[in-house]
Amino acid sequence: MNQRPSRKNQIAKPGPATPVLEPIEGARQLLRELNVQGIPIQPRKIAAQLQIVVWEREMETPYDGCLMRVGDTWGILLNNLIQSQARKNFTIAHELGHYYLDGGQIEGQGSAADKEDEAATFATQHRCQREDLRGFDSHRLEEQRANQFAVELLMPSPIFRADAADLPKIGLSAIGALAARYSTSLTSTAIRYTRLSPHVCAIVLSERRQIKYLAYSNRFRQNSDCYLARNKPLHPDSVAAQLEKDRSKEVKEDRRKVPLSYWCSTPSDQALIEQSRRLPRMNQVLTFLWLPDTS
Ligand SMILES: [Zn+2]
Repeated sequence: MNQRPSRKNQIAKPGPATPVLEPIEGARQLLRELNVQGIPIQPRKIAAQLQIVVWEREMETPYDGCLMRVGDTWGILLNNLIQSQARKNFTIAHELGHYYLDGGQIEGQGSAADKEDEAATFATQHRCQREDLRGFDSHRLEEQRANQFAVELLMPSPIFRADAADLPKIGLSAIGALAARYSTSLTSTAIRYTRLSPHVCAIVLSERRQIKYLAYSNRFRQNSDCYLARNKPLHPDSVAAQLEKDRSKEVKEDRRKVPLSYWCSTPSDQALIEQSRRLPRMNQVLTFLWLPDTS
């Protein structure tokens, strides 16, 4: 009983000789070690198998989750202000990433601010802010690594790619179906779907009519006419800008052909398929952009 994964043993004695575990390989290794099968992957079950206690408590708002260690006991604290089960799943998977990839490195990070917190005064911990858990690239390397781990853990690439290819439509409806199957958020599933896509496509999250986050497929990156910039204002005639403008209307989603130049600075007059959906709770618009093959 009580089988600990081999990586944990390596983490117990960190040092220059300890190889850095690559996040994607780390997630695959953990799924193999615990013989996890079946979709959706349940990160709470994985935590239980690793003897990591998961509990929920109200935390200050910028924080979604926290990895803690008290002596030899590890715990994941979830902010119970998070309402979506999918986001809770992602947060647990992200904290598992810190534990599994960099578990030996949180020692001594407790700060003076933790003094009011009785549990934290004798615990070492790693707190994760909401901005670090979005699934888009974080600025901090350790957060990027934990996100990459979480994405591969919850949506393992070989099976996710096959499931995406089986769906008849390309775009937000396929992403919605995959999010339901994998118990993942629409946004993190959209990023995964786009990055693994064999098509020329991108996903954009905009706020106040400005591009806030973006992710794209390899073929989008390789296409010289396709370039998206963060903080760029939305074209007023784009579907996304129209949905923002008509916020009071019932229409939540629309899909139509728009010139590629609405989104990318290019002289090309190619038509792009834009599918946008309002996310009212977040006050954001999620947009899937797809340049169909013309050859
Ligand atoms: Zn984190």
